[in-house]
Amino acid sequence: MAQLVLKNLYKRYDNQKKSLFRKKKPPNDYAVKNLSFSCHDGEFIGILGPSGCGKSTTLRMIAGLEEFTAGNAYIGDIRINDLKPKDRNIGLAFEDYALYPPLTVYENLAFNMRAKGKSNEEIKKAVNYVAPLLKVDDLLDMKPPALSGGQKQRVNIARAIVRRPGLLLLDEPLSHLDGKMRQTLRHEIKRMHHEIKCTTIIVTHDQMEAMSLADRIVIMKDGELQQMGTPLEVYDNPANEFVAGFIGEPPMNLLRSTIVTAGRGFLFTFADSDLRVEVPERYDSLIHDGMEVTLGVRPVDVRVAKKETAGSFVPIAFYENLGDERRIGVRVGSMLLNMATPDAVYFERGQMVQLEFKAEKTHLFHPGTGERIR
Ligand code: ADP
Repeated sequence: MAQLVLKNLYKRYDNQKKSLFRKKKPPNDYAVKNLSFSCHDGEFIGILGPSGCGKSTTLRMIAGLEEFTAGNAYIGDIRINDLKPKDRNIGLAFEDYALYPPLTVYENLAFNMRAKGKSNEEIKKAVNYVAPLLKVDDLLDMKPPALSGGQKQRVNIARAIVRRPGLLLLDEPLSHLDGKMRQTLRHEIKRMHHEIKCTTIIVTHDQMEAMSLADRIVIMKDGELQQMGTPLEVYDNPANEFVAGFIGEPPMNLLRSTIVTAGRGFLFTFADSDLRVEVPERYDSLIHDGMEVTLGVRPVDVRVAKKETAGSFVPIAFYENLGDERRIGVRVGSMLLNMATPDAVYFERGQMVQLEFKAEKTHLFHPGTGERIR
């Protein structure tokens, strides 16, 4: 087990440097920019973000497969910037399995230990411990070409942990697999982690994977850290609009609104719409009449009113019955507001309805910076 600390990490690839010969500036000048976070001993961390945000580069830097442009990384008390990958006590499993096809599963698992001169006895003990954890104990005599995608990935992860590394790094290990297999393997990875308690970092673009596996999630965009927190923290208290819109399915509604004074309180108003929503009192000290904000509300935290209220009406834009829930969209001026409900309701397109917001579940963001208004 090990603690990992990243301090002000930067990575700039050659093609991201300014060139006299290039007219256009590259879109991102760094693949990873001023990234700092730490994971505790035995913690499971998910690095989550859209494609190209620097997740794999971060993992590869930790693994020693990419040099640092700037910054420092420590495993325990040891600065690892200049350590070779093999000296970092790291287990790695990537999306593509890279198993040795001519070798049996047993020999694939044994390979690195053999290369390090471990005895047959030690190897057998290690393989026999790890194989059942990832349910590959029945596959030990088989060769990789005979295995399914899910089985290959189990072997791949088993191989990464067989030497009991201080740090386990998983790069999109489930993204090749179909939905059901992903879910099964997700449970098994979680169980395996619970058993061996190895500090683990998983890189994924799939929020379900990060939310279900990780103790804490690092959310990145354009090479930069957006927020680090437990799944509940990033869901309930997103630090900015990006995190708010990225975490949660369907995503949080982010509506441009102008706040107006009404009596002793305030109302959210929306361009080209009669909709008025009461601003919860807890925001009173942070807002003022005429202030532009982005109102964030999750689709499960707003619903069509069951009884008629004094509120204004909005038209239904779409209705979808997904079996276990209904998705309903209404027009608010030129914006679409999505709702999701387990209730067995039905609406016609164009039908005029009133809405109820769970006031305590609303979020406010600065429209310019996207930062949360606190
Ligand atoms: P992610 O894993 O989040 O999809 P990556 O870390 O792979 O993102 O990439 C981050 C950025 O760095 C992207 O703009 C990508 O094009 C660039 N990049 C990644 N690897 C290389 C490389 N070997 N050479 C040049 N640019 C790279």
